[in-house]
Parts: sequence; C-alpha cells; structure tokens
Amino acid sequence: MKKVTLIPGDGIGYEISESLVEIFKAAKVPVEFETENAGTDVYEKTGELIPESLYESVEKNKIAIKGPITTPIGKGFRSINVYLRKKYDLYTNFRPSRNLPGIETRYKNIELAIFRENTEGIYIGEEKFEDEEKTSAIAIKRITRKGSERIIKSAFEYAKNNKISKVTVVHKANILKYTDGMFLEIAREVAKNYEGIDLEELIIDNMCMQLVTNPERFKVIVTMNLYGDILSDLVAGLVGGLGVAPGANIGDDIAIFEAVHGSAPDIAGQNKANPLALLLSSLEMLKYLNLNDFAQKIENAILKTLESDCKTGDLGGNATTTEFTKKIIENLG
Ligand code: NAD
Repeated sequence: MKKVTLIPGDGIGYEISESLVEIFKAAKVPVEFETENAGTDVYEKTGELIPESLYESVEKNKIAIKGPITTPIGKGFRSINVYLRKKYDLYTNFRPSRNLPGIETRYKNIELAIFRENTEGIYIGEEKFEDEEKTSAIAIKRITRKGSERIIKSAFEYAKNNKISKVTVVHKANILKYTDGMFLEIAREVAKNYEGIDLEELIIDNMCMQLVTNPERFKVIVTMNLYGDILSDLVAGLVGGLGVAPGANIGDDIAIFEAVHGSAPDIAGQNKANPLALLLSSLEMLKYLNLNDFAQKIENAILKTLESDCKTGDLGGNATTTEFTKKIIENLG
C-alpha cells in the first residue's frame, strides 16, 4: 500500500474527490489516502489556511493529489496552489491533453504534453509602481539557468521515454533577448544531449496560431511560466475544456497531482461536477508510482463510459457526478 495525501479542496473539490476515492476502492488500487485539507473552509474551522498536519503529510508521503481551492479576490493570500508549488520547488507543471471518445471537438488526433516552468518568470509576482501617483507600474520577469535547464530536461526526458522525436520550445526571444533569449539558448544546449530528438523553435504568437490550425502536429511543448499557463488552457479548450484537463506539479522530491480547473462555485454541491480532470490526473499519479496496470484498468473504464455516452452536463450530457462515477465502476468489470 502506498500512502498518498488527498487534499479535497473546496467547492466541487469535495464531490470530485469522493468520486476518485470510490473508483480507486472499486479498482482495488494499492493506494491509501490520507486526507488533509487547506483553504477558506479549513480557515473558518481552525484559523489556519494550510494546517501544519498537511505539510507533515505531504513531506512524509512525498506525493499528493489535490482538488481545487478557491482563492478569494482582493484578500490576504495570493494562491495556496502557487504557495505549495513554491514551497516544495515543484518546478515542472505537466499538462497532458488528448482527444477522448464521445467528446465533440473541432480537432481530432490531439495528443500533446505541455511542460510549463512552474517557479519563475513573470509569475513570481514582483511588481511595483514607479511613481507616487501610480501612473506607471513594472513587473520583474526572472529566468535562471538552473530553472530553465531542469524544465527543458524534463520535457526531453519525457520525449525520450515516450519515443517522441520532437520537442517544441516556445519563446519571445526576438524581443526579450536576455530572459527568453537565455531560455532558448539553454534549450539548444540541452537538445544536443538527446540524439534522435529534434528541437523545434517557435515564437509564442506563431505558436498560438499553429495550435488553432494544426494542433495535431505538436507532441511535447516546453515553455516559460506565463506562456505555459495560457497555452495549456488553450490546448485544454481544444480537447473539451477544463473539465477534462489533468495536471501535475512535479519536483525532484515531491509531486502534487491536480485537476486544472477551479472550485466552480456556480455548480458546487449540486452533483453536477465532472470528476474527469481529477481522475485523469490520478492516472498520471499512478504511472508516476509505477502502478501502470491500475492506471490502464481505470482508463479503460473511463473510455468505455464516455463511449457509452454517459457524460456530465459540461460535456453536453445529463449524468450527475454520482451516476458518472457509478458507470465507471460498473465498467471496471
Ligand atoms: P472554474 O474553473 O472554477 O470555473 C469556470 C467554469 O467552468 C464554471 O462555469 C464552472 O462551472 C466550470 N467548471 C470548472 N470545472 C468543472 C468541472 N469539473 N465540471 C463541470 N464544470 C466545471 O474557474 P473560476 O470560476 O474562474 O474560479 C473559481 C475559483 O477557483 C476561484 O477562486 C479561483 O481562484 C479558483 N481556482 C483554483 C484553482 C486550483 O485550485 N487549482 C485553479 C483555478 C481556479
């Protein structure tokens, strides 16, 4: 039995986590969940946004799966998600996307993974006004050699392990010559160590155009924090939206798997939430734990369920969260 910290989050987080736990139990996955939560619900009960016991659990188990957590606008903290990524140096944001059966999309044959640098870039949030009248503001974009090298290596390692012969690096080095220029330079250096894998270089604006005309030609994309943030939601939209977008934040020591979407306050508590994004994230977690057979078994049941046209409202169906979960369990065989 492998222990995993389960952070349900809030909003629809409770419903989709319940679905995950039930499916793992039915599939007899050798994973024991240790539930620890964070966020405003926890704050109201305990006075702490992230309890000490959550850190202890994550640091002991080294692996966690997390539902969405609401970030209140205009109040105290920025984001628990961003905080955890920073605290545990989870530098790889891994966002795989692919077409799924029964989900109508404009494009077919998409299967690509985005590697987004998760700790640097303009996302560090170092901003200030330049004058007292607040007529001008600046933000710092920090790119380091270490940060760039490790994310680019992650992307190339993934390509190597999955027998993919091209990695696309996305940048704006024509304008940002020091920051993006260094990232691109390092991509060229790293690529030299991977025989048989080509490096394709694309400027971010061109990349956006290519992704909405020919998305199927990309397999692995590596880029800086903000470009990766935007591109990964764009690609999620190409394959059916945020309800089907899995993700993971991976460091050298600790990994946190998570659905990409937010807490969906508009449908929370109504048994309407689509648990697929969290479930697909859990499959990536099982592969990370070398439990590939269990990942395959659950994936087959999910695909069979979608093929039978059992879908939640966000995908044009009318199944509730519990009906969809039940059907997947039935299809586990
Ligand atoms: P959201 O992703 O919560 O919702 C956007 C739309 O997509 C809503 O209409 C929602 O109903 C729908 N949706 C999202 N996930 C769905 C699912 N699984 N099934 C069915 N429909 C789904 O985005 P938002 O409304 O901008 O954010 C709400 C809160 O979540 C905010 O406080 C935000 O900061 C937070 N958030 C958290 C995370 C995270 O914890 N990783 C990520 C994004 C946003």
